[in-house]
Amino acid sequence: MAQKTVVLYPSLGVGHLNPMVELAKVFLRRGLAVVIAVVDSPDKDAVSADAVARLAAANPDIALRFLPVPPCGADHHDSLPVIRITEVLRLANPALRDFLRALPAVHALVLDMFCTDALDVAAELAVPAYFFFASPLGDLAIMLHLPFYYPTAASSFKDMPETVLRFPGVPPIRALDMVTSVQDRESDVSRARQRQCARMLEARGIFVNTFDWLEARALEALRCGLCTPGHSMPPLHCIGPLVHVIGNTGGSGETHACLEWLDAQPDRSVVFLSFGSLGVFSAAQLKEMARGLENAGHRFLWVVRTPPEHQNDHSIEPDLESLLPEGFLERTRESGFVAKNWAPQIDVLRHKAIGAFVTHCGWNSALEGIVSGVPMICWPLYAEQRMNKVHMVKEMRIGVVVEGYEDELVRAEEVEAKVRLVMESDEGNKLRERLVMAKEIGEDALKESGSSDVAFDEFLRDLENKRT
Ligand code: UDP
Repeated sequence: MAQKTVVLYPSLGVGHLNPMVELAKVFLRRGLAVVIAVVDSPDKDAVSADAVARLAAANPDIALRFLPVPPCGADHHDSLPVIRITEVLRLANPALRDFLRALPAVHALVLDMFCTDALDVAAELAVPAYFFFASPLGDLAIMLHLPFYYPTAASSFKDMPETVLRFPGVPPIRALDMVTSVQDRESDVSRARQRQCARMLEARGIFVNTFDWLEARALEALRCGLCTPGHSMPPLHCIGPLVHVIGNTGGSGETHACLEWLDAQPDRSVVFLSFGSLGVFSAAQLKEMARGLENAGHRFLWVVRTPPEHQNDHSIEPDLESLLPEGFLERTRESGFVAKNWAPQIDVLRHKAIGAFVTHCGWNSALEGIVSGVPMICWPLYAEQRMNKVHMVKEMRIGVVVEGYEDELVRAEEVEAKVRLVMESDEGNKLRERLVMAKEIGEDALKESGSSDVAFDEFLRDLENKRT
């Protein structure tokens, strides 16, 4: 049988491209040819040519191709990210159409959740379209339900922050924990997101980077149609946990010093604090965190960035001496390691010295915690992380929450309390046992005949059997 070709179409940004690369590896392993179409736009969020070249060099079997997209209007740069990105992707449609037409055959087009306008191109060319949802299934359950719920809700979420909302298949969630982009019902961003979510139902199927066991209730609710009343739900393929392995050098070629430091620490003794690619804290918050860590008395590995009020460009190296409490670095010289800006997170999490992970609840970070079997302390910061936190703490039961994350400052005492809880208490031990179980079940899901493997088989059968 001739090899089938799948085109993957990520939204702007490395954060969208990396998960697609991991998905591409699954397609390749299962004998399909894969092309990733990368939007080439002057937009500030577009992936740089260098980043694409690095990914291409590391993955020679995946064809990465640029789609040239014309610049947007003059006021484009001032728009909010969702609006900007939606506009770039809308303008990319002609290039996508030409690109797909030029390929000898395309058997499926896999779209990122922001790429809903590309459904029009897929329909025009009669190419089956699927989505890849790179956040928890619980988020999908909420987001698909939103167009059915929000128009008749009492008010915008921002106007009822403490109201507890109930969506099928997920734990009760306070309105203030809903994703930032939909807080204001009347905003263009919120309308755009609802339109995009409503259109996801047009897909032939939805891949999700999770595994059945982890989110069984959301899976059931989605499959039964509880989240999308009166509409048929596309088949769901939970094919995770997929994590992006980039190696321990961060592209520099040298092993990061924190890994050598970890080698010298006892097993499960170190608290790792890392907050995604963008997470930053005020100087006041950094000082509270430092005090909390020091008072908790456990070893730590902490990724610190320059606070936003000091510098807009957070890639600039932080001045640790002035940012952290006086004498902190000296007092914790043996027991702590502060990494400036970045640490090789996946390698760190897999290191046997790590005992807990303080995370901003980005979904990649959460999955990396799960595949490493490390209990988490959830400190959500932006985007959909507060929703993720709810699933992680209440549904998956893989972490505890740092109280006060929605306020200006989380106090040192709270940091200390949650570190101690996970590192010292019975509750912490139970959490660790649960993570060991989640890790093993996640590994099994990916093995032959595991749930994620079977979910992929179902997609292959769909590709084989159906025509649009
Ligand atoms: N990451 C890393 N080192 C850091 C910070 C982040 O390797 O110091 C990686 C992390 O392993 C994860 C990604 O960056 O793969 C962050 O993705 P996530 O979805 O967790 O958060 P986002 O950056 O999208 O908010």
